[in-house]
Amino acid sequence: MDGDHARERRLMTESQIRARGVRDPLVLAAMARVPRHLFMPEGLWAHAYADEPLPIGEGQTISQPYIVAYMTEALGLDGGEKVLEVGTGSGYQTAVLAVIAGEVWTVEIVETLALRARAILDGLGYTNIHYRVGDGSEGWPEEAPFDAIIVTAAAPRMPAALENQLAQGGRMIVPVGTDLQELFLVRRVKKGFERDRLLGVRFVPLVKAS
Ligand code: SAH
Repeated sequence: MDGDHARERRLMTESQIRARGVRDPLVLAAMARVPRHLFMPEGLWAHAYADEPLPIGEGQTISQPYIVAYMTEALGLDGGEKVLEVGTGSGYQTAVLAVIAGEVWTVEIVETLALRARAILDGLGYTNIHYRVGDGSEGWPEEAPFDAIIVTAAAPRMPAALENQLAQGGRMIVPVGTDLQELFLVRRVKKGFERDRLLGVRFVPLVKAS
């Protein structure tokens, strides 16, 4: 038996991620390393490495492995960066970022999810993650600028507050839209922002703090 699911993880990385065109060796290594099953209830472990998103409680989902890898690769990380994540959720994407980047600041609006993710990430020994419970649509102004920002819930329109927390040359990956959503890659350049539409996606919506 493979108690750590390492074989399933290697298969997932080859057949779902490399086979679909993700080439960044840091991303492939992180996907093969982070124990995705530990971020979900034990009842779901049999499906943890399947090619699909999964429910994680509180009406939220853990993204499909390929989408996690695709979004991470789009950030162009090569180590040492300051990264902001909006929507900690299960903490799985947070772990993938923490393996590759220097420091990760992650914001989650649902406290129970934030606490659960933190317990798992602490248990796995990640010490380069900073946590906040609250509305991440305003970013984390005290820590800005960030080299990279990843938003894992859909923004109704391009979030200007987050764009403005990007460092010069920084990149943000963000799903934008309500019913129909598109993944955008934003780059901060000298004269402003370059925005590229990448593909159609489906994420839970960013919720507003009440
Ligand atoms: N990256 C996660 C998937 C997150 S699902 C993973 O790998 O598991 C999106 C998450 O964004 C949910 O946990 C949801 O509660 C959170 N969220 C929604 N609106 C938010 C907001 N305004 N600020 C911070 N987090 C938010």
